Amino acid sequence: MGNPAVAIDVDEDSGIWRTDGLPMVYLPRHFLVNNHVAVEQALGLQTYRAILHAATRKSAVHWCETTAAKYGMEREATFRFYFERLSQRGWGQFSVDKLDLAVHRASLSLRNSIFALEQADRTDRPVCYMFEGFLAGAFHFLLGSEAGKKRIECEEVQCCADGRHEHCRLDVVAKERSARVACRAEPCAIRDASLTQEA
Ligand SMILES: [Zn+2]
Repeated sequence: MGNPAVAIDVDEDSGIWRTDGLPMVYLPRHFLVNNHVAVEQALGLQTYRAILHAATRKSAVHWCETTAAKYGMEREATFRFYFERLSQRGWGQFSVDKLDLAVHRASLSLRNSIFALEQADRTDRPVCYMFEGFLAGAFHFLLGSEAGKKRIECEEVQCCADGRHEHCRLDVVAKERSARVACRAEPCAIRDASLTQEA
């Protein structure tokens, strides 16, 4: 058994845990995923997915901005560090397999996703869609001033919860806003709204 790869600073007076200066919460995986599934069932997949996408995307941008400032890191290093930290904090093991800024595309593989491990019987659709907002936000940060001119689309294109894939995979692409692109998922409207707010 190994120890956490991230430093955990515990304030003895308040009991607050921190990593990289951010307050953190340590909780059972089933607790988080059960809450997630309960909200999905209450709101419906598409509504919840859109809300979640906007919220997690905003948080990812914030994390990247504050971390880059704190450590004086370049954008690509911060992007990669974000997924390293997520991996070290137990969400799953992310790997940036492809990153091509010339065409504004990236592809990440994800092993041992908490959502796939807790929903191993879900064969009807990918279950790790919470991470789509994570990746879209980190990619938004990576693009810097270019991000406001783009529409960032992210999708989990394969999920190991179906039992047919070894790992999950998430693809992200940034397209010109004027491009007429068919949305494969409902969150597109929310993505654009959040992008406008953040820009
Ligand atoms: Zn998955």
